[in-house]
Amino acid sequence: MGFEVKDKRPMLAGVLRGIIMKTIGLIGGMSWESTAIYYKIINETVKERLGGLHSAKILLYSVDFYEIEKCQSQGKWIEAAKILSDAAIRLENAGADFLVICTNTMHKVYSEIKSAVSIPILHIADAAADRLKEKNIKQAILLGTKYTMKQDFYKGRLSKSGISVLVPDDGDIDIINGVIYNELCLGRVWEKSKAGYLKIIDKLKKQGGEAVILGCTEIGMLIGDDDLDIPVFDTAKIHAEKAAELAIS
Ligand code: GLU
Repeated sequence: MGFEVKDKRPMLAGVLRGIIMKTIGLIGGMSWESTAIYYKIINETVKERLGGLHSAKILLYSVDFYEIEKCQSQGKWIEAAKILSDAAIRLENAGADFLVICTNTMHKVYSEIKSAVSIPILHIADAAADRLKEKNIKQAILLGTKYTMKQDFYKGRLSKSGISVLVPDDGDIDIINGVIYNELCLGRVWEKSKAGYLKIIDKLKKQGGEAVILGCTEIGMLIGDDDLDIPVFDTAKIHAEKAAELAIS
């Protein structure tokens, strides 16, 4: 994907052991429930690849999601971009080699954050598109926040990679979105909501959806591979795995 990280600092300890591991800068807290999942998956992937006691080098800046959600619901995207750009600069100054924004929705201000730093940012939609292409998926159901499902910043990026998406109708968008902000981001994982999601997925499957993109980093808390008979692409998992692979590549 043309993604290069320059090693600017000597990493003596790693070099001595024959391993140069990059430091991942996580912009998290959106919500912290899913950032905890990133932390776990990144470390599990590094452990699986390198073995033994290896674990990932991670810097985390975790925002107050209350402030971010206020910006979103009031349409104050520039303000949100400033908060996240400030986090990005702090992570770069602290020594991160590349950044990971642990939410799909806030990739709406990806360009603003990118222009605030000189280190690369691993885009979540690119990570997802790569995985879908590997599995030869052309048309996928996209579930996420109302911003991700309705606006173009995410769907447009997927379609540039050759993935077309199906999104729920407006009524179902409200249901999906409500469960994210009122339940999953608060750590509430409820069976009745899972049933609602599966019903919505089933409708879109009948319209030609070959796979489901969990385009919100909390949805993997609610549904997974075992719940469906079509492939499930969990963006939190994919993004975290890609970050770990990049760190040790
Ligand atoms: N984590 C969610 C996402 O992946 C939603 C929370 C947010 O608005 O950032 O979009």
